[in-house]
Amino acid sequence: MAATEISTVILPLAPSGDFRNEPFVDFKLSANEHAMKDALERVGAMLGHEYDLVIGGERLRTKNKIRSLNPAKPAQVVGIHQEAGAEHAEQAMVAGLKAFETWQFVSWELRTSLLLRAAALIRDRKFEFCAWLVYEVGKNWSEADADVAETIDFLEFYAREALRLAHAEPPIQYPGERNRLLYVPLGVGAVIPPWNFPFAIMAGMTAAAIVCGNTVVLKPSTDAPTIASRFLDVLEEAGMPPGVVNLCQGGPAVGRALVDHPKTRFIAFTGSKAVGLEIHERAAKTQKGQIWIKRTVLELGGKDAIIVSADADMDAAVEGVVASAFGFNGQKCSACSRAIVEDPIYEAFLERIRERVAQIKVGDPVENVYMGPVVNETAMKRILNSIEIGKGEGRVIAGGKRVENADGGYYVEPTVVADVAPTARIAQEEIFGPVLSVIRVKDYQEALEVANDTEYGLTGSVYTADRRKLDHASRVFQVGNLYFNRKSTGAMVGAHPFGGFNMSGTDSKAGGPDYLLLFTQAKSVAEKLR
Ligand code: NAD
Repeated sequence: MAATEISTVILPLAPSGDFRNEPFVDFKLSANEHAMKDALERVGAMLGHEYDLVIGGERLRTKNKIRSLNPAKPAQVVGIHQEAGAEHAEQAMVAGLKAFETWQFVSWELRTSLLLRAAALIRDRKFEFCAWLVYEVGKNWSEADADVAETIDFLEFYAREALRLAHAEPPIQYPGERNRLLYVPLGVGAVIPPWNFPFAIMAGMTAAAIVCGNTVVLKPSTDAPTIASRFLDVLEEAGMPPGVVNLCQGGPAVGRALVDHPKTRFIAFTGSKAVGLEIHERAAKTQKGQIWIKRTVLELGGKDAIIVSADADMDAAVEGVVASAFGFNGQKCSACSRAIVEDPIYEAFLERIRERVAQIKVGDPVENVYMGPVVNETAMKRILNSIEIGKGEGRVIAGGKRVENADGGYYVEPTVVADVAPTARIAQEEIFGPVLSVIRVKDYQEALEVANDTEYGLTGSVYTADRRKLDHASRVFQVGNLYFNRKSTGAMVGAHPFGGFNMSGTDSKAGGPDYLLLFTQAKSVAEKLR
């Protein structure tokens, strides 16, 4: 599509004021509760539809299918998707390259308009998108709403950030010259998101890439393909020209084909450490015909700790640990999987945690139960295996098994293992499920040492009333996102730019002022004045 045609399909739209986080829905209000129930019913009637690959704006079907199942009722098919092979990765790359010829020269303002329109469409259908997340990955209503709100935030935030980059200037104008600094796009990127924030992370990485003028081959997780297909529809409705985002559903095989492709210019990945490191290695290998060094943006796992100091507000600490450990069943990279508690309050803390965890309800997220199923059978077995390991490494004081149910849903009890050694496997390896290890330490100094003693460095929290301890933690607690006297989950776009240290990733700081730079290269243009 020519640049002149593009200006007729994307209607200009300017940001309305400064960036503000999308407010969360209050489901206690009966109007919102009804709207959500209505959306669940409408989306319920749409389950099981078949969706196509989208390459260069064309719809494609393939031989092999991916069935997205409701983890609360695995017999219920949420969507049937086309599994892409290496040949589709090739076609998608060709389509992305073709679209890049014009998209890179489309004005920042028009590219920004695409994001703002998409945000408006999603806001209008917020309850519907929440319902898709409930069915596809088992989020409760508030968790689904947080994912949708973050999606809108990313679109609105990156739109404004793009306009800021568009008007960037070099720090100095050299005498006798006109100096400019232009942030130009990189090319075609592979965007590979995880399943756990299947809307926000998938849409956020995609939006950041395209608003800078890149084109994308999007390969969503096989556990959450439907929400990505729905996002593609939104982008098209918002006026996205063909080939700017190409949708290739599939697993590791098509992921590898995209990472290896000589024309892939960058890879934006969020997911596990193992896959991230594999991508890092493969992307570093120069392929025949490749004329650039591939850029990787890798956001990986965590083994996040909350330190509870002896002088902490116990009520707040218990609530914060429980919300961080068991919100969305611990399936967040930022989830607290280690509570590190000072000796004087250790026993009292255990007692309070045990009582609080006993109140947690587990059940079908369609009914808005706090804890739903984990995402699939493999995840459930992996988590139960970690719990078995934990039984040999500590004392299970809550949970410890699967929750049996008539629907065959993949429910695991919220599980707390006390008296865990800092070096135990369950204190070192990411479990990505509702399993909390509690570690006893003699004092604050030891707490910080234990907190830092993993290969990860994503999020962390400290509960203490002592300002000096907080100041000390801000210097030595080695994480990308550090929180004081609050939970370790729930990063807000703009306020908490998100990304981790060490094996938690390349610290890309999604939702922050530096993020778009990762999707551009800066060109300095100097003109001698006459
Ligand atoms: P995953 O690594 O299994 O999969 C992530 C994506 O990579 C999926 O789209 C998957 O299909 C694809 N993939 C798998 N193998 C591949 C390969 N060999 N080559 C290319 N692509 C491949 O992760 P997941 O289970 O979807 O997500 C959970 C993980 O993501 C956890 O480790 C969690 O901590 C992490 N996570 C990190 C952040 C963050 O911001 N740091 C945010 C969310 C999730």
